[in-house]
Parts: sequence; C-alpha cells; structure tokens
Amino acid sequence: MNIKVELNDFRRQWETVEHDVLDAVKRVGVRGWYILGERVSSFEASLSRAWPMTYCVGVGNGLDALEIGLRCLDLKPGTKVLTTPLSAFATTLAIVRAGGVPVFVDVDDSGLIDLNKCHSVLSQRSDIRYLLVVHLYGHALELDVLENLRDEFDLKLVEDCAQSIGAQSNNRSTGSVGDVAATSFYPTKNLGAMGDGGALLTNSAKIAEMAQVLRHYGQTSTYVHDQIGLNSRLDELHAAVLDDVMLPRLSQWTARRRAIAERFLMEIKNPCIKFPLIPAGSCSCWHLFPVLVKPEQRPAFVTHMKDRGVMTGCHYPKLIVEQRALTGCGYRFEVSGELANAKRFSCSEVSLPIHPFLTDEEVSHVVTCCNAWSAM
Ligand SMILES: *Cc1c(COP(=O)(O)O)cnc(C)c1O
Repeated sequence: MNIKVELNDFRRQWETVEHDVLDAVKRVGVRGWYILGERVSSFEASLSRAWPMTYCVGVGNGLDALEIGLRCLDLKPGTKVLTTPLSAFATTLAIVRAGGVPVFVDVDDSGLIDLNKCHSVLSQRSDIRYLLVVHLYGHALELDVLENLRDEFDLKLVEDCAQSIGAQSNNRSTGSVGDVAATSFYPTKNLGAMGDGGALLTNSAKIAEMAQVLRHYGQTSTYVHDQIGLNSRLDELHAAVLDDVMLPRLSQWTARRRAIAERFLMEIKNPCIKFPLIPAGSCSCWHLFPVLVKPEQRPAFVTHMKDRGVMTGCHYPKLIVEQRALTGCGYRFEVSGELANAKRFSCSEVSLPIHPFLTDEEVSHVVTCCNAWSAM
C-alpha cells in the first residue's frame, strides 16, 4: 500500500475550488480596486452574519487581529494580561507588541487554559483585569464559565479564535463572550485564504471603529492620523476568495472534520494512545486532532506513523514561556504557579491529520496505523 496522508492538502483543495477562485480573481481585476473596497466590506458582512457577531473588521493576519483587539481595549504599556502558555507564539506576541505583560497560567486536561486557575489568580491579583484565552485545537472553552469570570472580575476579554471558527459551546459561538474575537485566515486554518489574512469580530461599534482606524495607519480621515496605527488590511483579492469560495464551503468542510473526528474517537483503540479531555459543552470544529502518548514513546510513534505514510504534527513542542524571544530579550512576563499540564502536553501531544479532503480510505489507514502501534 502506498498511501500518503498529509496534515493539509492544498492541491486537493485547489481541485475543488479552482474554477470559483479564478472567477473571483477575475471579478476583482475587472473592477480594478485592490485595497479596502467593496469585497472587503462584503466579506466582513458575510462573516459577521455567519459567526454571528455584529461587526467584523478584516486585517492582515491573526496576530494583528489580536494586537489590534488588545489596543482597542485601551491596553496601557505595562498592563498585565492573563493567558495560556500552550498556543501559537502569536497569542503572546500580540500581548507583547501591544505593550502588555503576559502572565501565564496552566492549562487543564483539555490543553486549554484552566478557567478554575484563572479564577483563583484573578481572586488574588486585582492588578490583572485583562484575559486572552485561546480555543485551542478547535475546542470551545466553557463559555458560561468564561462569561461568569468576565462579569465577576469586570474583565477586558479577548478570545483567540484562530483555531475555532465554527466551534460552539452549548450552542454559543466562540468569540461571543469576549469584547473581541480575533481570527486568522492563514491557509491551514479551517477558513483559510490563499495567503495571509485575519479578522476581528465584536459586538461593540466603538471597538469596530477603532479597529478600522488602527488597521489603516491610525487614520481617522484622509491624511488625518489620530493614532499610531499599523498597515494591516485584508486585501480585496483575499476577501473575494474568502467570501465567494471558501466561506460558502466552510460548514461542509467543518462537517467533514467532525465526521473524521468521530471515527478517530470510535475506532482508535490503543491503550498507549489517549484522547485529551474535550471541554464540557464543546462542539469542536476540529482544527486539529490531538492525541497524547508517553513522552518517551512519542518519537517512536511519530516515526511509526511516518513510515506508513501518515504525517503528524505537534501543538506545541515548546511552551511560549520557554521561547528565547521572551526569556532572553528583556521582555517582562510572569508565570502564575506550576505549568505542569502545559508541560505534559508539550512533551506528549501528537496531532493526527484531520483536513476535510481526507478520503474514507485514508482515515481508515490512520486508524489502522494507530491501532497497529505497539509501544514495546
Ligand atoms: C494561527 C494562529 C495565530 C496567528 O495567526 P496568523 O494569521 O498566522 O498571524 C494566533 N493564534 C492561534 C491560536 C493560531 O492558531
């Protein structure tokens, strides 16, 4: 058998979208308007309707969406922001770039930030009133709990939804509890562009207006600059492709990811491969499919899969607090308590392929390879 199972398969995606993408590109060319035109507005309207949130502001990437989101919440230099050590580095990078000081708290058995620990930190530390959470792997944090936390401590709250487009917690969309939801259209994300892109979603008109100013040089009207802004705009081309081609297919792609996850959960039966907890009430969009193996067995498992044509990933092999950009460059950060669970994930997590273009045979092959693995 000569099966190759990739973590992502953009060639197969292209086969299904080629015709529609070329049409969308052509319409942008014919119109002759490339920056902040009607395609960006129309995609923003479509995404805010689909999410649903009142306002959507397209930006250059997910990192900028987070940074702009924090700056819209009036983050002053030196302000502490409670966050997770287990995420894409961009989550923390946004805090640092916005002038904040990250404070790391451990994750729970799902790999997502431990909301109980957040509660105890916030109870003891009145100097921390900003919270940046990540709906990691596409799993939704418990939004009721998050909402109570927000209200009890009067938090400014940003939800990093780069991995959680389409995920719900008890039928509420991720991003709907925070002041700001930030997301990414990096090609591997569930809603990927053919390049970089991102968006910030909010129910606040004031935040949306500020985000529009910040993404566009801090310009409030032509040649009038009231803020030190960024150049972080979503391109018309990306917006057109997202709006006409990718977003209309998202629910079908998410359904496929969910069906594959269902099969993995039912059919992978190997005592050496464990599934992390899924937060209560979460209807995941399965951006990733994480499993846990013993740290000392992980390299052998990865090799076993690779030898059988199955590529795997690791999210994430090194905690954000261990990255030299943070530890070795004089930036301030704090760690609240032990990060035992985060460390456990960083040395035992393996991500199985779960993109929507996997065939049933390939899914079966991944299952077979997992079940055939013996850690001895
Ligand atoms: C991808 C990702 C980001 C960053 O998005 P970019 O568009 O690559 O800047 C931030 N947070 C998380 C959780 C991500 O997965």
